[in-house]
Amino acid sequence: CGVFGVLGVADAANFVALGLHALQHRGQEAGGIVTYDAERGFNSARRFGYVRDTFTSADVMQTLPGSLGIGHVRYSTSGSKGPAQIRDVQPFFGEFSMGGAAIAHNGNITNAQALRRELIERGSIFQSSSDTECIIHLMARSLQKGIPERMEDALRRVEGAFSIVAMTRTKLIGVRDPLGVRPLVLGRVGDGWVLSSETCALDIIGAELVREIDPGEMVVITEEHGVESLRPFRPVRPRFCIFEHVYFSRPDSIIGGRSVYETRRQIGVELAREAPVEADLVCPVPDSGTPAAIGFSQESGIPYAMGIVRNQYMGRTFIEPTEQIRNMGVRLKLNVNRALIRGKRVILVDDSVVRGTTSRKIKEMILDAGAAEVHFRIASPPTSWPCFYGVDTPQREKLLAASMSEEEMRSHLAVDSLRFISLDGLYRAVGEPQGRDAGTPQYCDACFSGEYPVEPSDMIEQGFTL
Ligand code: 5GP
Ligand code: SF4
Ligand code: MG
Repeated sequence: CGVFGVLGVADAANFVALGLHALQHRGQEAGGIVTYDAERGFNSARRFGYVRDTFTSADVMQTLPGSLGIGHVRYSTSGSKGPAQIRDVQPFFGEFSMGGAAIAHNGNITNAQALRRELIERGSIFQSSSDTECIIHLMARSLQKGIPERMEDALRRVEGAFSIVAMTRTKLIGVRDPLGVRPLVLGRVGDGWVLSSETCALDIIGAELVREIDPGEMVVITEEHGVESLRPFRPVRPRFCIFEHVYFSRPDSIIGGRSVYETRRQIGVELAREAPVEADLVCPVPDSGTPAAIGFSQESGIPYAMGIVRNQYMGRTFIEPTEQIRNMGVRLKLNVNRALIRGKRVILVDDSVVRGTTSRKIKEMILDAGAAEVHFRIASPPTSWPCFYGVDTPQREKLLAASMSEEEMRSHLAVDSLRFISLDGLYRAVGEPQGRDAGTPQYCDACFSGEYPVEPSDMIEQGFTL
């Protein structure tokens, strides 16, 4: 998901809508905006679909007055079942004795089921099926006098990944979990302040990046006092999601001072060194494989070409919720550039192999078009484990790499060769020249290594074994 908030600008909702539009790649199922205005109090709108279709008409935007607002773009992760429901669309709102608060969450709470059970037993009435709602109920039960303090209380009980943007009548609040799994940045726009999942959403409103919110940090921002920084949690070594660098973030964002594009290009360079192959063309599987393909081509000297063309009017396949739609999606979204491919030995560069369904279809399309050879090069190590921290990987049984070796996957996909970047190669590409520190890894890489930095206790309760 993507989160965004702004304080101290006229018509905050317009900025929030623009910010969410720039974060749309983080969630395409639904979006929501909450604003506060002294005259009209809190207002909210939640809609299914793209921000550009839902938060552009005057009808909606006029209902969201005020100079303080937050928003959320959603895609549902493995926890959610059944059809999408508007009651699960964030931001969530709670009314407390000292006033209201709205909260938008990116990540996934790994002890949400246990918390929900406990809260329901003690009388909380849940409105949604979302893990995020636990935070509101925990806040309602806190004895603290202020909303930020109640939020600290609540978040100390929560495990897992959270980057949160929240607001009260006067405050914009940002928090990152102690490991800092999901990103969150602070920006300045005129006299106002911005919080955003990624820097690409600062650019769209002409805001300047001030800095990242630190792992384990809470910032409370007011027009009067600016940014106040708090440290509510016991400090631990951060474990940022390495897959944000590979796939999830936009290539024009800056993470940890590094260009995401440059990291992905470097992954391609590493791949070309680790797994060279003789061929005529390097083609990305668009768009997620593009920067790595550019790096692969530059390092190998094999020409880069658009062997596959993407229809710009389809979303990201991975975000479409059902397998059936996902299966359909490949042909609707990608087409082979036949004239270019015929008779050529082609290296296809993609970001990841998850179920293998996309990769198989693409290989068929390329062979149909008359390619002489097909070589897959993948910009992440084999995805052998599900993510429980906010990225929607399927159950372990559905992950190709969970049950197959690299050679078995190659023969399953029926390609001439298949190679994944090594975990160390990936670490080098994200700026760790020594590779992965096996004792205390610098990043979360659980979907590749199976080493979960936070025990996924709800999933273990459901029978998941490490
Ligand atoms: P596959 O070949 O595993 O079906 O799909 C791999 C391709 O689809 C990659 O380009 C990746 O970007 C995308 N993809 C499809 N499904 C998922 C998913 O559930 N999680 C992730 N991380 N990527 C996916
Ligand atoms: Fe990121 Fe993978 Fe860790 Fe999930 S398991 S937070 S996708 S590195
Ligand atoms: Mg892709």
